[in-house]
Amino acid sequence: MTVGIVIILIYAIILFLGNRGERIERYSNLGLNQETPNHPAIDPTDIVYNGTSNSIGLGEIEAILEKHYPYYTSLQPELREKFLARTQTFIRKKIFIIKNGEGYREMPVLVSAAAIQLTFGLDDYLLPFYKYIRIYPSEYFGDGFKVLAGNVKNNMITVAWNHFLKGNEDLTDGSNVGLHEMSHALYFQKVVIDANYARRFCRNYDDVLTACKEAYQTEIAGQKNLYSAYADTDLQEFWAESVEIFFEKPNELYLQYPSVYEAMKVLLHQDPLNKTHPVLETASFLPQKLARLLKYTRI
Ligand SMILES: [Zn+2]
Repeated sequence: MTVGIVIILIYAIILFLGNRGERIERYSNLGLNQETPNHPAIDPTDIVYNGTSNSIGLGEIEAILEKHYPYYTSLQPELREKFLARTQTFIRKKIFIIKNGEGYREMPVLVSAAAIQLTFGLDDYLLPFYKYIRIYPSEYFGDGFKVLAGNVKNNMITVAWNHFLKGNEDLTDGSNVGLHEMSHALYFQKVVIDANYARRFCRNYDDVLTACKEAYQTEIAGQKNLYSAYADTDLQEFWAESVEIFFEKPNELYLQYPSVYEAMKVLLHQDPLNKTHPVLETASFLPQKLARLLKYTRI
């Protein structure tokens, strides 16, 4: 009996150390390290809004979404309720760093709403690795003095507010920096950080990439021109732009690259072409609570 327990303990320790090693290696490949999380520098002029203080109430979030977020107003009432609750929870889990002292209460709400829109068909939507969301009033300098409208680095998602608003102004031009950056974050969260247990998502993401590779070659060869030139940078940018087009030009995506549209639909559990049921039911065959439990015990 005692020998059995000792064997199980040794096995558990080996398993733990093995997984730990794999995780650290994955992080270091990306310049990410869970052991020494990145705490961004705060300038004296920055406004820091810690979501746990929860000074933005549900009614205010609702008013902001109704005024500025058409995806939210297009939803059926019961889905609006879910969207609202998710947005509030997401805000509570994040620290917002608003640069240059130019802060608006809409900032944390609307940037969070982009994450909620993207993940609305998924069970896990909090992108927990990304503790920090940084908002610049306009474009800013990134590594190598590149001028950026948004980027994702370490455990922080950054957007330029003017570009974010521009992306939200026209929801049919296929350009939306909020959805773009959240797509990079979703990829890192699920496919890299959570890869050991987000297996279904990873499989579905592989299907998206397979479809994207074909579309990528077609776009690079100049045979079609649905994507911007920037999407041709690499497949990661192509994925992020595919998300923008999926939500903003679903008809064109479906007509020109039906395999990309279908794979995105399965991955995100959303169907923007279906106006009455844009969010699909979870495809899990297990009751959700059980599925979640099993997911975290690494079956
Ligand atoms: Zn990008």
